[in-house]
Amino acid sequence: MFVKALEEIVNKCTQYNARLVAVSKTRSAEEIQQVYNSGIRDFGENYAAEMKNKHKGLPKDICWHFIGHLQRNKTALISPYVHLIHSVDRISLLNELEKEGLKHNRIISCLLQVHIAREETKFGILLDQLNHFVNEIKTKTFPHISIKGLMGMATLTDDKNQIRSEFRLLKKLFDGLTASDKDFTILSMGMTSDYEIALDEGSTMVRIGSAIFGERN
Ligand SMILES: *Cc1c(COP(=O)(O)O)cnc(C)c1O
Repeated sequence: MFVKALEEIVNKCTQYNARLVAVSKTRSAEEIQQVYNSGIRDFGENYAAEMKNKHKGLPKDICWHFIGHLQRNKTALISPYVHLIHSVDRISLLNELEKEGLKHNRIISCLLQVHIAREETKFGILLDQLNHFVNEIKTKTFPHISIKGLMGMATLTDDKNQIRSEFRLLKKLFDGLTASDKDFTILSMGMTSDYEIALDEGSTMVRIGSAIFGERN
């Protein structure tokens, strides 16, 4: 792990009053424990089975964030303990999570993932579908789900202006929804390559992997 980089990121997050999620996908339990020992309690994973194993073997006060594409048949692997699911983009997934929440008698916190990037491949609710999606959630009842905000990933590009404008758009959508929903408090945006821009544009939660743990294979 990169002690100095972590320190810098933590300082930056403190300055912006944002929360840091250390993205620990593909990292060993030992690597995570090291970062934990320097005070970090939020870790992000993108495979349900991997998260389950790590949850089992690591300290119980870790807040586990699910940040990857979540399949309905994998929700049971994370539902009993997951702190926040960043990647809800389908109503069918909420139906499944509602059942899991009921089963475990807990409220599962989620963010809606919005497709803000120009790339085709990334998951997320399309911009012109977001209002419809939010209205649909309101008409259904999900007593065991709490929608806390939005998550988005900017285009992977060197064009900082483009990244900034994508984050700015997400912030605008977030502000629009915050106005009518007091539970909307989390705006998850920013990774290693663009978290400074994201913080500048109003991110309240950054998800950072390689700057802390080193490059992934
Ligand atoms: C892997 C991942 C990150 C972290 O990426 P880095 O570039 O290593 O900081 C953040 N968000 C999501 C959704 C990811 O899958």
